[in-house]
Amino acid sequence: MILHSTEEVERARANVKRFGWARALADAAVAASRPFVERTDDELWALVTGQQVPRGIHVNPEKGCPSCGRRVYEEHGNYPWILDFNKPFKIECPSCQEIWPKNDFSAWHNSGLGPGGVFDPEHADRSLLFNEEHPNPDNPLHGYAVDDGRGWVDEDGQRWWFIAFFGHYGTWTELPKAVTALSQAWLYTGDRCYAHKGLVLLDRIADVYPDMDLRPWSDMVLYNSHGGTGEGRLQGCIWETFISEGLSRAADILLDAVDGDTALAEFLRSKAQQWEMANDKASAERIRDNIRDGLLRQFIGSVRDFRIRGNEGMTQTAMAAAAAVLDDPKETPAALDWLYEPGARRVGGGHIPATLIGEVDRDGVGSEASPSYSFLWMNLFRRCAAVLERCQQHRNFDLHRDFPRLRRMYAAPHRLTALDMYSPRIGDTGRAGDPGLISVDLETTIDVFERFGETWAAQLAFRLNGDSVEGLHTSIFAVEPEAVQARIASVVKREGPLNLPSANLNGYGLAMFRHGEGDERRAAWRYYGRNTGHGHRDRLNYGLYYRGMDLLPEMGYPEYADGMWPKRAGWTINTISHNTVVVNQRAQDNSWVGRCRLFAAVEGASVVEVGCAEVYPEASDYRRTLAKVDVSASESYLVDVFRVVGGDHHVLSFHSGDGTVTIEGLELQPQKEGTYAGTEISFGEHYDGEPDGRYCGSGFSYLRNVERRTRPSPGWSVDWELADTWNVKQGTDDVHLRYHGLSPAGEVSLAYGEPPNNKPGNPKQLRFLLQQNKGQNLRSTFVGVVEPYSGQQRTLQSVQRLPLTVDSAAAVRIQTTHGRTDIVLSSDNTDMDIELGDGVSAAARFVWVGRERDGTTEILLLGGSHVRLPEGELKLSQSAYHGVIRDFAQDEVGATWLDVEAELPTDGRLHGAQLRVLGTSPRDTCYKIEGVSATGAELLRLDLGDTTLVRGFVDNQDYDAGVLYDVAPGDSIEILSLVHCRVRHGHCEVLQANIDSIWSPAGAS
Ligand SMILES: [Zn+2]
Ligand SMILES: [Zn+2]
Repeated sequence: MILHSTEEVERARANVKRFGWARALADAAVAASRPFVERTDDELWALVTGQQVPRGIHVNPEKGCPSCGRRVYEEHGNYPWILDFNKPFKIECPSCQEIWPKNDFSAWHNSGLGPGGVFDPEHADRSLLFNEEHPNPDNPLHGYAVDDGRGWVDEDGQRWWFIAFFGHYGTWTELPKAVTALSQAWLYTGDRCYAHKGLVLLDRIADVYPDMDLRPWSDMVLYNSHGGTGEGRLQGCIWETFISEGLSRAADILLDAVDGDTALAEFLRSKAQQWEMANDKASAERIRDNIRDGLLRQFIGSVRDFRIRGNEGMTQTAMAAAAAVLDDPKETPAALDWLYEPGARRVGGGHIPATLIGEVDRDGVGSEASPSYSFLWMNLFRRCAAVLERCQQHRNFDLHRDFPRLRRMYAAPHRLTALDMYSPRIGDTGRAGDPGLISVDLETTIDVFERFGETWAAQLAFRLNGDSVEGLHTSIFAVEPEAVQARIASVVKREGPLNLPSANLNGYGLAMFRHGEGDERRAAWRYYGRNTGHGHRDRLNYGLYYRGMDLLPEMGYPEYADGMWPKRAGWTINTISHNTVVVNQRAQDNSWVGRCRLFAAVEGASVVEVGCAEVYPEASDYRRTLAKVDVSASESYLVDVFRVVGGDHHVLSFHSGDGTVTIEGLELQPQKEGTYAGTEISFGEHYDGEPDGRYCGSGFSYLRNVERRTRPSPGWSVDWELADTWNVKQGTDDVHLRYHGLSPAGEVSLAYGEPPNNKPGNPKQLRFLLQQNKGQNLRSTFVGVVEPYSGQQRTLQSVQRLPLTVDSAAAVRIQTTHGRTDIVLSSDNTDMDIELGDGVSAAARFVWVGRERDGTTEILLLGGSHVRLPEGELKLSQSAYHGVIRDFAQDEVGATWLDVEAELPTDGRLHGAQLRVLGTSPRDTCYKIEGVSATGAELLRLDLGDTTLVRGFVDNQDYDAGVLYDVAPGDSIEILSLVHCRVRHGHCEVLQANIDSIWSPAGAS
């Protein structure tokens, strides 16, 4: 064994006897093995089918079931068919219980066994191809639903792939799992019967594997997971990475069990004779050769010929596992070298350096936008690193040593979470508003804690385990697996439990506002990262969690995430289905990340502003400011200001969850026919672009049952009384979301749009609110307030937009139900005084002023020079700090710092402040300051904490050409001023500030 030492196997077997959780692992492997142990060797051997039995993931993706149609998808998801290994080549419809196909495929298959004992339809008996329910040839249904392997073609010319579905999900999903279970059952129990059955299957798979090739089936338009390439072997080249990795790992365990199994040797030798096989299986070594030649060498070859090639991390791990287990003095080092060789996802070598320095952003997130896909990289490279640790005799590769960003990858998943129950459903992820953490799990977390001793990992493990260390353990192979409990307990005792603050992950492009404690926690996020790949055209979209619910659900994972599915491009990933602005009736252009102009989070209020006009080149401004302000310990509201300049058509799309919608101040006219695209345009019609997945038009035809109103007076509102779609609501009170429309709009409409309809639990449809402006060289400033509340008690009593004399600024005045009056201002100018009524004025990029009835006033000012109240004035010494970068940390490893020429306080006031570098990097360059100190050379050193300034290689095909940086000497820097204070009885108490300020009571001068 290569991947486990003899001592480890002994420890695992001992731990199974010592610990319940270890026994449970063994029991699970034994239980999964049972159906296969109960079969004779002959029966097992016959389960393995050859190339002529097809593999495909759909019976018919458009039509569903021949009997009940698409209902099967709507009720049971993408891959609904029921399989049973005891009913070979039959699949059952879970909706109508029909069994398909209608012929006895087994009889036909067995009549055609030819050379090597493998099915060849040329030699099979065609008289066996008939509907078993209607054996009489005169019966009109005699040929109904008969599948000879190439699918049944009905009278409309529709092809139904019953056997291919079984081949994929029955044979080639179940058998690799069976081999894995059998190998583990043997590993954990030492009972040879599992190894014996595992080897019968593994050896037989090795017999047929060299001829397995998906290409001919892809050419017949059978769907599989190959990213459109059509390549693969048992399955599409993407999932083949998992199959091959699993079989390599099982082979590692089982190869050791060939010696001494005389029954196995006898059985395989007789089969080889019977079917005249090239490998006569005449010795243990010949059997091992069969597994090495038929599997391990095939896997290595197919990673190189692209028939095994998945997302980043999948291919590399598949290669590493096959190479490690092959353990050949020449072939293994050559295969391991491939891992580091330059390439890209679909060409050349495994390019691990280019991936882990560059494709993974500085927050440790892979570049697929969607958390599901991006975090997969982390899990995979973790496995790859573990395999490479076992190959040190061949190559001294150590991913943790060579690529420190891998360590940051482990932390990324939990840094995105909210309420300990949500990872944002960005891109192709999850369902419409469903809860769940992505890639946040105990096993990884404990492994990271053991390896690096990270504080967050101890705290997270404690939290994931229900705020306890009870039952926590490391690997089953460890000497004292439960000793970790005391170590985690002591970290939590010293550092406290996990308490994630608001954060701006500028490398990934996500700002997360976390407010409140315990059950009163609520959170909002703004995503501004990659909108490509498995991402959606969703730049500047946002989310909101309240009372345990997702109030602004994403569409989530599309019906199918392939590049051709029309509704994915038309609707699910299109800009219009997201809470953002569509310019000129088309999807956003691709972009890596937006530009964060400001971010701050203090106790009780948070704000972020991001601009990214590049997603619509005709726009000179496309920028959104989102603030979250607390009203009480349990309630907050959002203020949203979206500025768009340029183009001639703007639509701000907004939707909440499923529920009952009440409208106030808007009289809507139903549109009798058609869709939001027009009365003539029917649902889903790609009237303005390609009919398929290449579409990048408006997507307006996916909004139906339209009601419209031209030029309503601002001040209307739409209230969603939300259904608890995912059964997660805290408490018994109803949960509402109220949107206050405060902008003049050319037209306001309501319409229905639908989340993917083959994901069980997804709401059937959601109500969309659309604000539209038209005109030449258009300038829109969409201002809205989002008010979540529960029960009968509203949070806000009145909401109005303040009339301002300055076009580029927007302000709202809000009265909360308990009597506070808030003014929120978003302005483009740090120094221009803006009158806000009630004797209040301010000059700042962002201001929140909250005036209680008793006269207490709380102020948050960001990037400004003053706030004036009737009772006095708060004056800041300057609106921002500026400086110039002179030097910076160039290493990917170690501390990250900037040396700047600037006048900055070194007393800790800038600790936690956001620094913005105004340079030329295509990535956004905002960093959190963790320390400021003098270098002794008239410069100041800014400590940026755990991040990196390396962007990636100059040339991914030539690592020697060096790396690129996100910053350069000479770049200027900006730190916006921030003051959070409370004015009471003529005094001003500064709660938090990064700059000097003076409070002057009125009349005191
Ligand atoms: Zn059916
Ligand atoms: Zn989306």
